[in-house]
Amino acid sequence: MKRKYKAAIVGGGFSGLVACDRLSLALGGENVALFEKNDRLGKKILATGNGRGNITNAKLSSENYHSVSGADVNGIIRKYDNLSLVRYFASLGIATEEEDGRIYPSGFQASAVQDALRDRSAYLNADVFCSSEVKNIVKSGNGFILSGNFGEVFAEKVILCCGGKAGGHYGTDGTAFSLVSSLGHSVTALYPSLVQLKTEREKIKGLKGVKAKVKASAFVGGEKVAETEGDVLFTEYGISGNAAFFLSSYFAGEKGGEVNLEFLPEKNEKDISLFLTEKLSKLPYITRENLLTGIVNKQIGKAILSSVKDFRKTEDFAAAIARGIKNFNLKVVGSLGFDYAQVTRGGVPFSEVDKDVLESKKAKGLYIVGEMLDVDGDCGGYNLQWAFSSAAAAADDVIKLYENK
Ligand SMILES: Cc1cc2nc3c(=O)[nH]c(=O)nc-3n(C[C@H](O)[C@H](O)[C@H](O)COP(=O)(O)OP(=O)(O)OC[C@H]3O[C@@H](n4cnc5c(N)ncnc54)[C@H](O)[C@@H]3O)c2cc1C
Repeated sequence: MKRKYKAAIVGGGFSGLVACDRLSLALGGENVALFEKNDRLGKKILATGNGRGNITNAKLSSENYHSVSGADVNGIIRKYDNLSLVRYFASLGIATEEEDGRIYPSGFQASAVQDALRDRSAYLNADVFCSSEVKNIVKSGNGFILSGNFGEVFAEKVILCCGGKAGGHYGTDGTAFSLVSSLGHSVTALYPSLVQLKTEREKIKGLKGVKAKVKASAFVGGEKVAETEGDVLFTEYGISGNAAFFLSSYFAGEKGGEVNLEFLPEKNEKDISLFLTEKLSKLPYITRENLLTGIVNKQIGKAILSSVKDFRKTEDFAAAIARGIKNFNLKVVGSLGFDYAQVTRGGVPFSEVDKDVLESKKAKGLYIVGEMLDVDGDCGGYNLQWAFSSAAAAADDVIKLYENK
């Protein structure tokens, strides 16, 4: 005989674990099944925020979210906002700390988040199936039959928390989209986002391994679409670092574009120009090659100077270098792709689910949440926030249905 559950959750990542907690608490763990294809729950959580677990951000608005086909996330992120996430983790014994707007578990260890969520599902006695990939879901009577290497189970409601296509080695290689396709859903084009950018190489030759604090802007079709301040790390293929990751979201799905790096973000071009004019006139022994030494990283200085021609007047030469410091443009030619990306742009179109509770419009009783939907957030905790908010919205709707029965 098939095991029967009120609710089955497919995917034991961040959203799946949040949904499991809420459902087990309200419906009883014995009525909830959680399937995870990895041999343990929440594997990806450990890698988030460079192992520090950036779970949300002090500033949250729908402007922080993107999609291919348009997504109205406003209602859900207002109902289940960043304070609600912080309160939720406080209820699990996890205090939080803010650093430049980014919110982390106190102690800055992502493992604290993973442990808190895993311990919770164990304590609430949810039926957890690890190393169990759900291969097929079919509608059956008032629910669904889920099958895989664990056999077959029946569940009245199913919440799909399978993630997207980014970071395949964490279990999210995009194959789970076939589950929604077989239930009548479409899937948009998918693109890697929050990922290292490949750029033209000539200009960055010799900069490999150099890290700099910059103001960085993204230009697409000649228009400025985003700006941020942070670090870039030059690599042999292009740029990495938090500023590059942030901007990459604005190139996802676009054909090319340009990144503008402004070195010395705290100084304006005019002051730099005056400083250089003085340096050139007071220290005539300084060679062109060493002119920017002590102002920017030596290698960066060389790269800037290589594109500045000589001028007769010192002021003009200084002004051209200052311009170069503030306008280090790099053509974007691609990204390192899904294996290196933190998130997927694209997924199940938002128009195919109820925007408030994320129930499928194609299969009643099925919910789709987290990265599996066509919603992705900026760098800075917005994706875990979405995973939390969307899972809570879906789980609470399931709970309400049983309360009203
Ligand atoms: C390296 C890295 C760092 C990141 N850092 C941050 C950060 O600091 N802050 C932030 O907000 N976001 C961060 N993200 C993004 C964030 O982790 C994801 O957006 C978020 O985890 C998505 O949650 P989810 O529950 O939708 O999917 P996931 O957390 O990806 O979980 C999906 C789960 O479903 C399982 N699964 C898939 N298919 C099946 C199936 N058929 N049967 C059973 N199980 C299945 C997978 O194995 C996986 O465990 C990072 C991502 C990466 C890769």
